[in-house]
Amino acid sequence: MNEFPRPDYRALGPYAPDRRPVAVDLSDNTNLWGPHPAAHEALREASGEALARYPSVYADDLRAAVAAKWSLAPSTVATGCGSDDILDSTFRAAHRPGGVVACPGPTFSMIPIFARMNGLGVREIPWEEAREDPRLLLTGDAVAVYVCDPNNPTGAHLPEGWIDALLDAGGPRGPLVVLDEAYADFAGSSEVSRAPDTARLLVLRTLSKAYGLAGLRVGFAVGAPEVVAEVEKSRGPYKVGRIDEAAAVLALEDPEGWVAGIVTATRTNRARLAEELEHRGFAPRPSRANFLLVPVDDARGLTARLRERGVAVRPFSGLTGIGDAVRVSVGPWSMLERFLDALDGVGASGTPGPEGGGGN
Ligand SMILES: *Cc1c(COP(=O)(O)O)cnc(C)c1O
Repeated sequence: MNEFPRPDYRALGPYAPDRRPVAVDLSDNTNLWGPHPAAHEALREASGEALARYPSVYADDLRAAVAAKWSLAPSTVATGCGSDDILDSTFRAAHRPGGVVACPGPTFSMIPIFARMNGLGVREIPWEEAREDPRLLLTGDAVAVYVCDPNNPTGAHLPEGWIDALLDAGGPRGPLVVLDEAYADFAGSSEVSRAPDTARLLVLRTLSKAYGLAGLRVGFAVGAPEVVAEVEKSRGPYKVGRIDEAAAVLALEDPEGWVAGIVTATRTNRARLAEELEHRGFAPRPSRANFLLVPVDDARGLTARLRERGVAVRPFSGLTGIGDAVRVSVGPWSMLERFLDALDGVGASGTPGPEGGGGN
């Protein structure tokens, strides 16, 4: 009799972040200023027909909106139920028995889950080593290389020319490079425009962060038509809801420049938060995203104590090359003030105390 499910699948747990309600939630990097107003308006005015009928099979309006925004052909755009869905579909399309997803780490916590769900292994190369030599990611069993820029959870931005060095080293038969630009809106640099003409590069974007539409679940990816077609096949039809698609299209058009305002406010508050943390003796990592990673002594303990004071952050234990750290989303200053007050309230500081502890 066949075993259900296969042992490596059974060994995987469900994704279970701490999502208990809290007054100030700085744990998931969503847009704390709220949703894109044009998308919100579209949802309020949705017709009954939009609910009762199926969406378009492959989200053609959304593909067209992305294509128009970056002056691309629609055949170079894939879509999905969040960019998570596109990651999952890409790994499924890339699967080969014995294959691995290689990535510089630490990185996005969903990567090992999506890789293993799709029967792939994971090979994490420490960032410091991969930054020096991208060829370390290109072992023969790598079916895909995942790179996140700016990286979650560190906020780090790739050095100039690094992606080219990786693509060149991989050559025409190298693995697909999956570049996750979930936070590129905040960084102000992106590989989207050149992805259609760059063989073996797929660039992923989401409307969950800068656009404030995490509740909708809309993501997209840009690459060569041959790559995009395989990802779309793997993802399957009807994955972006009709109302979600209409709202996302209006947000992408962004005639009032709402997203640029969010990006400016985020950068201002990120710098101010970093300064406040440094005053308290912490050393937040340089970030190009809408969050700061702050090394601490005991991430889980600190997170629990902040939660008692109504503030949620995301704890990370034993990150490669960093150790324990908490990740703090950047939003309106009133929320960050609540975080700093809670931090002061639990007596946390980054300077070692009399016993040489400190950091939490
Ligand atoms: C938030 C995030 C995403 C976005 O996921 P969606 O499914 O589009 O909401 C993708 N990648 C990274 C690294 C993220 O942090």
